[in-house]
Amino acid sequence: MFEDAELFIRSSGESSEVVTKQMYDFRDKGDRHIALKPEGTAPAIRAYLEHSLGQQAQVTRLWYFTPIFRFERPQKGRYRQSHQAGIELIGSSHPNADAEVIEFTVDFYRTLGLTDAQVRLNSIGRTETRARFGEAILAHMAGWLADQDEDGKARALKNPMRLLDSKDPKIQEAIAGLAPITSFLDDESKARFEKLQELLTEAGVEFILDPAIVRGLDYYTETVYEVQSPSLGAQSALSGGGRYDNLIAELGGPATPAVGFAAGLERALIVMDALGVQAGASGIDAFLVGANSESQLHLRKIARALRAAGFSVSFDLDERDVKRQLKAADRMAARFALIFGHEEVASGHVAFKQLSSGEQIDVPEAHLISTLRKRLVE
Ligand code: AMP
Repeated sequence: MFEDAELFIRSSGESSEVVTKQMYDFRDKGDRHIALKPEGTAPAIRAYLEHSLGQQAQVTRLWYFTPIFRFERPQKGRYRQSHQAGIELIGSSHPNADAEVIEFTVDFYRTLGLTDAQVRLNSIGRTETRARFGEAILAHMAGWLADQDEDGKARALKNPMRLLDSKDPKIQEAIAGLAPITSFLDDESKARFEKLQELLTEAGVEFILDPAIVRGLDYYTETVYEVQSPSLGAQSALSGGGRYDNLIAELGGPATPAVGFAAGLERALIVMDALGVQAGASGIDAFLVGANSESQLHLRKIARALRAAGFSVSFDLDERDVKRQLKAADRMAARFALIFGHEEVASGHVAFKQLSSGEQIDVPEAHLISTLRKRLVE
């Protein structure tokens, strides 16, 4: 939930918006400078280093699910506490790793049913490329810069690329016509970026090249991307990610390349809502129906065994009549109703009913698990 504030100052950057404006930080009773996590990558890497997670294999794949906290003006899609799910692929600098993470991202949204998610891709090259691009930004915006106060000038000089993220119309106007960062890439970065695009195309991943995606954190190198959805309006980003080859060394570890992404879950829910996708609409495997209190006792035993075998099953806790139990099975979108009538229980059988078709067969209890397993994949 919280980390040493220094972790974010060192990773996101002292002058980053996350650190200067959004991070909730405070001194605890031991006078330690603490911050509520404003993002998940630096904490994941802190854990990776602290617990030597990279020792087992050359490549380490991590995932997390975490609340994040940012001090900002709350509005739809922008909250002071929200939740992120993210992955980090650590230990490979090959574009195959970037492609794997981006493919994973696309699969994630496809599984959720977010059909309008768009990948916007860019490359920001190495540290030296960004330094050259920064000088070009300042030269291009010299007129605007001259009008700024000392503070504004100092901020712009410290990290000119942040100006590209600005929503200020004056800044946007001054930026117009600036050559994209991709025209500053060296040959190696260009080749990497081209290879990545080839791999994505080959994998059937659609993407839009967008030189405006630069990401606000200092640790990104080479590949950066965002997934956006037109259903989100102003807060259009569903997730963001990219390569961060310098972060692990920056945090005191051995130089190790890595790439990852983080998805905002509240924003995914907003889009699911807008598209009419129902969360959890897939229902359960089976609903167990009992004819009387004796069979109820028996069916709870069977429910336990089915749950232990990995099936999602439910039953009526209030032991209502069979008609109501079947209604409850429908409401829970169960695939099958397993009916334990008086006679069935006595003979060790179950009435096995497919709810979509109404088709019903008689199954010996001993074959229940294998029948359910077989019928669920048909
Ligand atoms: P970022 O690292 O800022 O690009 O954040 C990654 C993703 O987390 C964004 O694309 C959003 O989906 C989500 N996110 C970030 N900040 C917030 C917030 N304050 N409220 C809701 N979602 C957020």
